[in-house]
Amino acid sequence: MKIAIIGTGYVGLPSGVGFAEQGNQVTCIDKNVEKITKLQNGQLTLFENGLEELYKSNMAAGRLKFTTSMQEGVTDADIVILAVGTPPHPVTKEADLQYIEAATRELALYLNGYTVVATKSTVPVGTGDKIEDIIRSVNPAADADVISLPEFLREGFAIHDFFAPDRIIAGTDSLRAKQLISKLYEPFKEAKLLFISRRSSETVKYASNAFLAVKINYINEMANFCEKAGANIDEVATGMGLDSRIGAKFLKAGPGYGGSCFPKDTNAMAFMARQIGINMPLIETTITENENRYKLMAQRILKAAGKKEAVIGVLGLAFKDGTDDCRTSPAIHIIEALLQYPVRITAYDPKAMPSAQKLLGDKISYAADAYAAVKEADVIAVLTEWKDFRLLDMNRLAALTKQKVIMDCRNLLEPTTVRQAGFTYYCVGQKD
Ligand code: NAD
Repeated sequence: MKIAIIGTGYVGLPSGVGFAEQGNQVTCIDKNVEKITKLQNGQLTLFENGLEELYKSNMAAGRLKFTTSMQEGVTDADIVILAVGTPPHPVTKEADLQYIEAATRELALYLNGYTVVATKSTVPVGTGDKIEDIIRSVNPAADADVISLPEFLREGFAIHDFFAPDRIIAGTDSLRAKQLISKLYEPFKEAKLLFISRRSSETVKYASNAFLAVKINYINEMANFCEKAGANIDEVATGMGLDSRIGAKFLKAGPGYGGSCFPKDTNAMAFMARQIGINMPLIETTITENENRYKLMAQRILKAAGKKEAVIGVLGLAFKDGTDDCRTSPAIHIIEALLQYPVRITAYDPKAMPSAQKLLGDKISYAADAYAAVKEADVIAVLTEWKDFRLLDMNRLAALTKQKVIMDCRNLLEPTTVRQAGFTYYCVGQKD
């Protein structure tokens, strides 16, 4: 099958590589010339476990191409997948559809023969209708079905999730589109392929992310309770997770959710609800409480340091482990909150230093490794759950710091080992 993917980012690139690996002819299109030039020349533009080998082998096999030309990718494609960004509007926080609209206006020009135009970007309910209208106005003769094909991959596990998805949801009533999508996903025998209406499919994505955000907010609220009540949130979460109705996932207390999806999608969901006159207090509260949590974590770090003019060694900048993505990373927000005080911050992250530097610039210092980051620190703040941090030599860390204090916002480290090295150890959801 010939597939064109528009938008070669955290969704478009792993998806393009995955579809190529399954024997399809894939052209990834992006308007970012620098990105496409790098990818054409064998250089990956983002970090994902397992992506590099598949990218290289499919390039070598001639199944994977990169271009800035919409015409080159879309003409002759059986399926055109939209994977451009839908960032939050800076004021209203609604999903900004300018990239979807611009890409659609352009792709419509080159549709040729029957084509399925599938939206993988997360888009508000009714966007499929808008895409259809644009195609009809730009190219009235186009023979295309516009479907919703929401993406559920998790950054850090994008390749794993591509090949082993829990479910594939396609929103369409068209028989021809259903046949094509069934063929595309034939190799994914284990995954449930669910055809529903386009509007339901668009809603599933927001409903899923909002639910997970509420679940994280719930366990964080419970962590606050545990801190005062003398219980341990990790033990409580383990006990809760054994109930199959609740499930163990997304019950990890921490610094609040972040990343490029949950904050954006909860805000977009709340905006959509307000637009149609629906009250969604659960989601509204989750958004506010999550934003407050970043500030709460900053306060706890300063309290652990015992002073406002603290030297802080930060471990972790990415919004979670396994990715270099710092978009709406809790670490970045916590650092921004700390910078309201006369602190000095030095940070280290195994993968996300360049993307963090783009956001924070010279407001903080950057270290070559974890040990360099904590030198002379009054407090070490663990902000991303990189497994590597667990393997650090705690005695060496302790010897480098000014005060042996750790605030572990991810409950990542092994408390006994840390305390044996002489640290005072603070974490989330346990009495100090
Ligand atoms: P991204 O910012 O990493 O990539 C988007 C790419 O689209 C950029 O490279 C940009 O240059 C390109 N682009 C924009 N306009 C274009 C145009 N007119 N023509 C060609 N290219 C264009 O974004 P992402 O994280 O991959 O997210 C893409 C969409 O997928 C969003 O709607 C997001 O909500 C959704 N999504 C993301 C994830 C995730 O984990 N990142 C998961 C599920 C769904």
